[in-house]
Amino acid sequence: MTKSNSPHAGGRHFLHIPGPTPVPDRILRAIDQQVIDHRGPAFQELAKDVLSGIKTIFKTTQPVIIYPASGTGAWEAALVNTLSPGDEILMVETGQFASLWHKMATKLGLVPQLVETDWRSGVDAGVIEAKLLADAAHSIKAVCVVHSETSTGVLSSIAAVRQAMNRTKHPALLMVDTISSLGSTDYRHDEWGVDVTIGGSQKGLMLPPGLSFNAISAKAMQASKTATLPRAFWSWDEMLASNETGFFPYTPATNLLYGLREAIAMLHEEGLDNVFARHIRHGEAARRAVASWGLTLQCNNPAEYSPVLTTVQVPSGHDADHLRAVILKNFNLSLGMGLARLKGKVFRIGHLGDCNDLSLMAALTGVEMGLALAGIPHQKGGVDAAMAYLVECAAERSEKISVSSVATSVRVAA
Ligand code: PLP
Repeated sequence: MTKSNSPHAGGRHFLHIPGPTPVPDRILRAIDQQVIDHRGPAFQELAKDVLSGIKTIFKTTQPVIIYPASGTGAWEAALVNTLSPGDEILMVETGQFASLWHKMATKLGLVPQLVETDWRSGVDAGVIEAKLLADAAHSIKAVCVVHSETSTGVLSSIAAVRQAMNRTKHPALLMVDTISSLGSTDYRHDEWGVDVTIGGSQKGLMLPPGLSFNAISAKAMQASKTATLPRAFWSWDEMLASNETGFFPYTPATNLLYGLREAIAMLHEEGLDNVFARHIRHGEAARRAVASWGLTLQCNNPAEYSPVLTTVQVPSGHDADHLRAVILKNFNLSLGMGLARLKGKVFRIGHLGDCNDLSLMAALTGVEMGLALAGIPHQKGGVDAAMAYLVECAAERSEKISVSSVATSVRVAA
């Protein structure tokens, strides 16, 4: 029985924070099995399935490590496996998650150079290029960026960062946090030449929290041979040696791996490109609603709108946390809070993972009703604007289907 933050009042809780996201019934059923011996043949088969399946989601043929940990663990694993105490790294503070990763790097004894932003835009590849060009001694050992900054709703171009790095011929590693983009936004670990990609289970992969990932390039693997930051639990070499035989060096999160196998199957059944298109459509619908309400998006660069969440500013003098509380209490809808310097100033609408047109419409309706109830100045019509856009998209999709079915029947008849 699902428990929400409110007493039961009929219907279900609408979880529209930008992760963890609702877990589809198919995945819940997959997880709901007896635990098996993690050193036996049934586990070995499961491990082999997920270790090869997850590569298709990262778009890599290189190894992907699965940790029984939240995303923060995989951040640490990326750093401690490849770097040594006192190493300089370049990080871009696109928002709160980039800032937390920076804090971790400092605690680990690294020396991060932090490029600050206004938390309204993404990584400026030109700045990375200039910093690397200025580093003639190649003291910078890694460039670390967040793909989808979950605190602001900004998506940075990893291809642009890679191209900028290539132009400089600087040997720094490229590390990318895809915790809120993996499985919901186009991402290409191999094609974009990323050295370590960090992922998490609880967002685009539609799983509960508890698994996280490192996808590793040959160059990162090479760096791990000489890196001297202390590591034990996070050690890639022991994990990869065990994974080779279908096992883990310590007790894995067996039941989450059942869920992961199902999640990978579901993403491929829908087709990754269709999954990405669905998220882009929902991002656009949400932004049309925000524009009609007359509210301002936190992301101020249309080329960098994240398709997985929309971060919305409330007019000054109003409290976004009060709005969220009103919405939760009255409509049983959870929205994401503003983090750190954005606390009380923004709310975040998550539309990632197991989200369809009607779940998005429920969330937008809850927001529009909440704005009225909380006395936040806005114009009506956001829900109508989103609905009109989704109808347009649905009509286009049906047209495409009927054109392709006519083409198929013509081919069959011929
Ligand atoms: N990075 C990003 C972009 C995130 O969105 C999050 C969590 O929301 C994290 C890192 C931290 O991951 P976790 O909370 O799973 O440790």
